[in-house]
Amino acid sequence: SNSLYTSHLSLGFFFFFGFIGIMFQDITTLLLDHKAFKYTVDIFVDRYRDMGISVVAGVEARGFMFGPSIALAIGAKFVPLRKPKKLPGEVISEKYELEYGTDCLEMHLGAVQPRERVLVIDDLVATGGTLSAAIRLLERVGAEVVECACVIGLPEVKGESRLNGKPLYVLVEPR
Ligand code: IMP
Repeated sequence: SNSLYTSHLSLGFFFFFGFIGIMFQDITTLLLDHKAFKYTVDIFVDRYRDMGISVVAGVEARGFMFGPSIALAIGAKFVPLRKPKKLPGEVISEKYELEYGTDCLEMHLGAVQPRERVLVIDDLVATGGTLSAAIRLLERVGAEVVECACVIGLPEVKGESRLNGKPLYVLVEPR
């Protein structure tokens, strides 16, 4: 389906719900289970392999745990979108709002060329603020963001409006 907000609730049982005062959705237990990990990556690979995507852009840090596997399988390059002062080369930066304060993502200049088709990947979307900053970074260098994909979409994501009109695809929506 190409609907804006698609879910596969069948994956729900793979996730451990830690409790640290707030609910924290943790994907590290998914990574421990080879079958579940591969199944997850394969869903993304099947969806994106024939969409002319040449760049998978992963959001630090947990986007790095899924993005490279997807990139290798669909024949794309992997571009890390990192927290400030991590990348050694020349970067462009995008600030975004958090509940308390601001944060920032950076990307190497020259990593993505104008008109390249990009998949943005992260583990989880909540407000959509992080993914929106990722989209702005990529659009500033003239790239086309085809879709944003996450393993988990929190219910609070009325986020499509904050995703700059870009489609969002999530595998599970915890209640
Ligand atoms: P957003 O910007 O509000 O959509 O928050 C998404 C970002 O915060 C992603 O980079 C997530 O990795 C991180 N995040 C927020 N809440 C959680 C959580 O419960 N588990 C894992 N990551 C989270």
